[in-house]
Amino acid sequence: MTERTFSILKPDATRRNLTGKINAVIEDAGLRIVAQKRIHMSKAQAEKFYEIHKERPFFGELVEFMTSAPVVVQVLEGADAVAKYREVMGATNPAQAADGTIRKLFAESVGENSVHGSDSQDNAKIEIAQFFTDAEIVG
Ligand code: GDP
Repeated sequence: MTERTFSILKPDATRRNLTGKINAVIEDAGLRIVAQKRIHMSKAQAEKFYEIHKERPFFGELVEFMTSAPVVVQVLEGADAVAKYREVMGATNPAQAADGTIRKLFAESVGENSVHGSDSQDNAKIEIAQFFTDAEIVG
């Protein structure tokens, strides 16, 4: 089923000029980038986005990282886009990520792991709505 997911190219990726290389992996996997913009996340935006992790010991570090440099927020569209993108991203910890995945290819550590992708269709809708209006998404 054609669906949409939300993606972030994180600060470690923009800092190393990897946005084009990561987009190539996304597109080669059959996912279409139907919206994209470069933003510098505010602390409030990052705290809201990662609210689910607020009790975790790494929350402060995560918010600091996500606001440390620009990110590229994206909407990806394709067949089973949520699961497909999770597969293309690879495991959270790059040491455990499968060959050919974005995190295996590019991530620096479990924290600075280059990309975010929604983990469910419900979260994809919520996350897309935090950063994009309907008019900005051109499918
Ligand atoms: P994801 O869905 O694969 O991104 O993983 P999670 O939802 O478990 O974690 C969200 C994000 O928090 C990860 O992508 C990392 O950027 C960060 N994170 C997760 N675990 C750790 C950790 O142990 N240390 C740090 N610094 N960051 C972490």
